[in-house]
Amino acid sequence: MSGFIHLSANVSPKATIGENCYIWHEAQIREGVTIGSESIIGKGAYVDFGVTVGARCKLQNGVFVYHGATLEEGVMLGPGVMLLNDKTPRAITPDGRLKSADDWQVSPTHISYGAGIGGGSIILPGVTVGRWAIVGSGSVVTRDVPDYGLVYGNPARLHGFVCPCGQRLQLVEQMTESVELACPQCQQHITVTTKTYRSAINHE
Ligand SMILES: [Zn+2]
Repeated sequence: MSGFIHLSANVSPKATIGENCYIWHEAQIREGVTIGSESIIGKGAYVDFGVTVGARCKLQNGVFVYHGATLEEGVMLGPGVMLLNDKTPRAITPDGRLKSADDWQVSPTHISYGAGIGGGSIILPGVTVGRWAIVGSGSVVTRDVPDYGLVYGNPARLHGFVCPCGQRLQLVEQMTESVELACPQCQQHITVTTKTYRSAINHE
């Protein structure tokens, strides 16, 4: 691998791009962005100022990642995913003036190591998606997602847990404080808290 920035991509000279990244047609990378090595930024992706993207992330075509977002290493954003940052979207103040950058507060989003967000999903401001979690396509994620959590729907609910390899985890043993799960494919064992497990059973 050698890396590649397509001529039609708009990469700010104040952005820091790691080694061996691929940045495709018409992607826009704003000032202050940091992108880790071996990441792929798809066609028409928008990465807002100051956003941090870890190494080996894949941002598919047409994603919008707004200011305040942090992507740890190995994060997958499917096509058209949006990471938003404004909990009270208003163009104007109560007296009708155009809002400026000082008139609102950024609510950051955080996508943890290895997590995958299905195409067309929207991550609302202030939400953290846990390590290795998967968000099903077309979801609207209004609340934090636990590590290994599988959520989908609008609003997204917790429906189970997934292995780093992507398979659904199955119940092994339920204890007082924790629950042991295992992957039928790669046999990896994962422990989650009983409270978190119960919220998956109840689709909370
Ligand atoms: Zn597995």
